[in-house]
Amino acid sequence: MNPVSAEQQALLERYRSSHIGVFGLPGLVLSHGDGAYVHDVDGNRYLDLLGGIAVNALGHGHPELVAAISRQAGAAVHVSNFFTTPAQIEAAEALLRICAAPTGSGVFFCNSGSEAVETAIKLSRRTGRREIVAVGGAFHGRTTGAVSLTHKEAYRAPFEPLLPGVTHVAPGDAAALRAAVGPDTAMVLLEPIQGEAGVVPTPPGYLAEAREITREAGALLVLDEIQTGIGRTGAWFAHQLEGIVPDAITVAKGLGGGVPIGALVTFGPEVTGLLTAGQHGSTFGGNPLACSAALAVLSTIESEGLIEHAVEAGDFLVDRVESLDHPLVTGVRGAGLLRAIRLARPIAPASTAIARRHGFIVNPVAPDALRLAPPLIITTDQLATFVDALPAILDEADKETA
Ligand SMILES: *Cc1c(COP(=O)(O)O)cnc(C)c1O
Repeated sequence: MNPVSAEQQALLERYRSSHIGVFGLPGLVLSHGDGAYVHDVDGNRYLDLLGGIAVNALGHGHPELVAAISRQAGAAVHVSNFFTTPAQIEAAEALLRICAAPTGSGVFFCNSGSEAVETAIKLSRRTGRREIVAVGGAFHGRTTGAVSLTHKEAYRAPFEPLLPGVTHVAPGDAAALRAAVGPDTAMVLLEPIQGEAGVVPTPPGYLAEAREITREAGALLVLDEIQTGIGRTGAWFAHQLEGIVPDAITVAKGLGGGVPIGALVTFGPEVTGLLTAGQHGSTFGGNPLACSAALAVLSTIESEGLIEHAVEAGDFLVDRVESLDHPLVTGVRGAGLLRAIRLARPIAPASTAIARRHGFIVNPVAPDALRLAPPLIITTDQLATFVDALPAILDEADKETA
């Protein structure tokens, strides 16, 4: 693959001089995508194994998504929340159906994951309790409330003081959770698989224990399914594989297939009734364009059997990577098509740069872990091209960082 052209460099320079620098300098200027591939402005093609960070569930340019958005754009892109639309109603009903939510459950639509978490925080306040328990390594977003529940010091420290009453306990440790939850605990917030922490699954049985602990204490159990939801881990939502029913879940990322939409889903009338008229809102939340995208994503995942495919493709990936028997690979963790390839040495950043030169987009989620969260439509043949290239990528990265 060619190095970035002078034209692309010039565009990146214009990016630098026109943006607040919170993302650093982007790696590429992308022009378009098709299926599981993206293309940069120089005409290079990359297999998108990150899927816009678990967002592009249907890949790029999926005809069902394009048709739904186009149709809705011609009808109405936005109406205020003084009114509603068939798209909004149908999207909420579809979301409740895939949640297997009981009668009296409800959806609040917003525009991002962080906003869904903010909604959960406000919901929890309505219990009359003040404290929130989250876990070490947790990532729940970047808005001020959500970052209070996020654990990473570098994301929090510059913005203190944050929300009071937040405790982080050791992840995966049910005894520590039990000790931290008390009569003033409003909510326990957990990711079924910690995404930004490095695709780290909670231990088997932990979510069930968390359910028991919160029920006994009268606290809400809210699961952050923003990265794990929408079919990515082998069920509509990861908690369904554990057979538990939370009080609420946060959803975003894959829900709109790339169109910004988030949601809080509350389970049952008691939790749903905590937020009443006038207590929350969003100008764009529930707009018909985003809702039509969500509907198309959910119906296409169903009609194309993409949840079953995520399981098969995920198993295929793990088998292939393990059978490389490469000394720099120590294993693969995660579920379905949310995975991290564990590396023996901290060469994930170098491997990511080299993978890109080989035509693959991956993410160094930790110094020693490469995250893969590809579109659910990725084929096993496409995954195989990456696994075949992996030994050369890792060897090159190892040499470079030695
Ligand atoms: C991405 C993510 C968020 C934040 O979502 P934004 O849309 O970036 O605000 C929150 N929680 C988890 C688990 C996420 O992966």
